[in-house]
Amino acid sequence: MPDIAHTPLAFRFSKPAPPAATYAQNTKEFRYWTAAEALRRGADFWAVVVPLTAWELGKTLPVLLDEGQDLNAYYDRKALNFFHGPSPSGTVYSGESPDVICHEMGHAILDSFKPQLWGAASQEVAAFHESFGDMSAILSALQLQSLRSDILSTTGGKLAQASRLSRLAEQLGAAIRAQMPDAVEVDCLRNAANSFTYRVPSSLPSSGPASQLSSEPHSFSRVFTGAFFEILGAMLQIKAGASPPTEAMLLAVSNEMGSILAIAIKAASVVSDWYAQVAAQMVLASKSADEDYPSALKAVFVRRQILSLHSSTTLSLVASAPAAMAESMAAVPGTLPQIALKAEHYGLEGLLFVDAPGQHRAFIAAAASNNAQPIAAPTGADAAQHFVDDLFTRGRVEYRPTVHTVLDHQKRLKTHRVVSSGGNHRLERILFDCGLCDH
Ligand SMILES: [Zn+2]
Repeated sequence: MPDIAHTPLAFRFSKPAPPAATYAQNTKEFRYWTAAEALRRGADFWAVVVPLTAWELGKTLPVLLDEGQDLNAYYDRKALNFFHGPSPSGTVYSGESPDVICHEMGHAILDSFKPQLWGAASQEVAAFHESFGDMSAILSALQLQSLRSDILSTTGGKLAQASRLSRLAEQLGAAIRAQMPDAVEVDCLRNAANSFTYRVPSSLPSSGPASQLSSEPHSFSRVFTGAFFEILGAMLQIKAGASPPTEAMLLAVSNEMGSILAIAIKAASVVSDWYAQVAAQMVLASKSADEDYPSALKAVFVRRQILSLHSSTTLSLVASAPAAMAESMAAVPGTLPQIALKAEHYGLEGLLFVDAPGQHRAFIAAAASNNAQPIAAPTGADAAQHFVDDLFTRGRVEYRPTVHTVLDHQKRLKTHRVVSSGGNHRLERILFDCGLCDH
């Protein structure tokens, strides 16, 4: 019986727990225990590997398991929120999916140890938050012994292949596909077994079908999640050596991956090319788990163009000067610089202030273009402007125009709001959503 009040990382449901028993699917009692089990399993995993003693909002995170009709779920710094909606096979509850549960909890976990990412006006940071949700779903699933054994036998030990593990939220994906066939992948919501490579997000369309990459956060998240999933498979191969991988090795690798991610994210400067910074820090962090990991991580990140060949060699130099690096990283401040953007084209008089991805860089790690050349990172101001343009284009901002133009995006769920005072404006995040309303 999962104890939702267990600390650290306690949860509180809005309704009392039904008696522990065996219940049929699609009953509210079944949903309660499915959600409680998945939340406890995921939170216990992250509490140890990060490590964490509390949520961003305090000791206890409220969970609202069924907030009405919508094919969605979101984290808003107040609670985890879940909904229900129609599907060809009957009603689908997002709070009944361990994948969706551990994705939303992933937003809350990341917010608890890197709160600067919450308000960052950056396409890569917003996409990374979604990727972390999916990585959280995968690593939390791997805490189940039965699932580890099943995945190893169905993939023949080749973890990076498509499987139950890589296919996130199959039922919710089917429900959305019935309403909008190209909004999700053919067999699930998002598949971690994919071959997307890095592009500068501002060069991509603001939204698009699931078969293509766009700068929409859930779409762009797949670049990082794909690299992560390939790396997880490579780490398992290294651990197993010449013998077939076992479920115990897979558990060890998932725990190592959790801590590599946490160390890397904490150390990475919040800058416009955030993917490259996290990737570089993951390469550096992986060495303490296994001497053979860094070259395997570099190979995947270079193939995905998240790191350039130049950056991968720079990393070897950085790794050989740990003391100098520690000194340089100590200069990274906690908060993000504020930057003022022109806002007239959004219908706002005065300036719009945002948190720009413009922290100090301890060293240069860059992504690669299609001709293998390192990409010069956009300035924090340019990256912030692209991010805000994207939000207004997609109708995700709650605001009152003061000059002209009103785009009627109707009832789209808003992820951000404009707070106005003294003739100027500030952009604030309201929530991270599952993005399903985007379609
Ligand atoms: Zn999400």
